[in-house]
Amino acid sequence: KDEVNIIAGALEFRKKVVSDVMTKLEDVFMLSNDAILDFETVSEIMKQGYSRIPVYDGVRSNIVTVLYIKDLAFVDPDDNTPLSTLCNFYQNPCNFVFEDTTLDIMFKQFKEGIKGHMAIVQRVNSEGEGDPFYETVGIVTLEDVIEELIQSEIVDE
Ligand code: ADP
Repeated sequence: KDEVNIIAGALEFRKKVVSDVMTKLEDVFMLSNDAILDFETVSEIMKQGYSRIPVYDGVRSNIVTVLYIKDLAFVDPDDNTPLSTLCNFYQNPCNFVFEDTTLDIMFKQFKEGIKGHMAIVQRVNSEGEGDPFYETVGIVTLEDVIEELIQSEIVDE
């Protein structure tokens, strides 16, 4: 019975895709790269409680880097440090994946060392008149993928 459950979970893993488990762009807590790390902003970051925060330039769909909470260790809110100073110093890369990536592939990529275990989810937007373009639709973390694996197993019980 256990083996059957595990196989069922693994098969589900191959059918489900990143967009099924991601956090949608509108629900992502982000910062603009022109933000100032004053008391108010740092308090809001702490209140939100996420360990990684995407940073965008101009519009929310234009994610350029990721701020790790640990990067704030030496930041004094009284200094009013621009977020861009910190981003330029750490230059944390962001990883991009397509929304139709299956969870088994996504899991493998996380295992193989996607930095920070978070990826930005994109899709090819070919609606409308103009040329197709990459559109950012959300973020996915290792936790989203593992949760799905565990859920599949529980449901199969
Ligand atoms: P954390 O370590 O910040 O708690 P996890 O990787 O454990 O992040 O993810 C927990 C959930 O929170 C996942 O569903 C993930 O997609 C979501 N998440 C992670 N970072 C953010 C963020 N900055 N804004 C909104 N949701 C986020």
